[in-house]
Amino acid sequence: MKTIIVATHNEDKMKEIREILAGDGIEYISLNNADMPDTEIIENGTTFEENAIIKARTISKATGQMVLADDSGLEIDYLGKAPGVYSARYLGEDTPYTVKNNYIIDQLKDAKGKERSARFVCVVACAFPDGRTITARGTIEGQIAYEENGGNGFGYDPVFYLPERGCTTAQLEPEEKNKISHRGQALRKMYEILKKENVI
Ligand code: IMP
Repeated sequence: MKTIIVATHNEDKMKEIREILAGDGIEYISLNNADMPDTEIIENGTTFEENAIIKARTISKATGQMVLADDSGLEIDYLGKAPGVYSARYLGEDTPYTVKNNYIIDQLKDAKGKERSARFVCVVACAFPDGRTITARGTIEGQIAYEENGGNGFGYDPVFYLPERGCTTAQLEPEEKNKISHRGQALRKMYEILKKENVI
C-alpha cells in the first residue's frame, strides 16, 4: 500500500484526514508514527498558506518524499480574525479547549447575531521532493455559540455554531462534519489535483 506522511502531530486532524480520504488505497502516517528522525518545524508564517507550506516542505526535505500538511484555524470577525493562524497556540498550547472556548464566549458577550460571525479555514499543502509546492483551501462559515455544545470533533468545535443547521460542528456526526468542513473541502480539492497530476 502507498503511504504518505502528513506533517502533523495532531491525531484529531489525522482521524478526520483518514476519514475524508478513506477508500483511496493510501495509508496516511502522522509524524507520531513516521519512521524518520525528529525534525523541528518552525511554523513562523503569517498565513495558513505559508504555514502549511513550511510544514510540508520541512518534512519533505527531511524524508525526500512527497508530504502533505494541514494548517487550519478559527477566524472570529469580532476579534479581528483572531485566533487565526495562532489557533493551536491561543491562550497556550496546553490550555484545555473548554477554557479557550469559554474565554471566547466571554470576549463576545456584547456581540449579537451576525456580529458573532466566524469561519474555520483549512489550507492543505503538498510538497514534492523537487521543491515544488501546491495548496488547496477550504472554509466553512458559522457563528460563535453562546455556550459550548456537543462532544464530537475537537478544539473549537463546541463553540462553532452553524445557524442553518441549528447546532455546533461538535454536534454533527463525523461524516456530516467531514462533508461540509473546511478540512473536507481542502482535502478533496487537493486529492483531485494530485489525481490529475497522476501522483496518486
Ligand atoms: P495547526 O495545527 O497550527 O494547523 O492548528 C490548528 C488549530 O486550529 C487546531 O489545533 C484547533 O485549535 C483549530 N482547528 C482547526 N480545525 C479545527 C476543527 O475542525 N475543529 C476545531 N478546531 C479546529
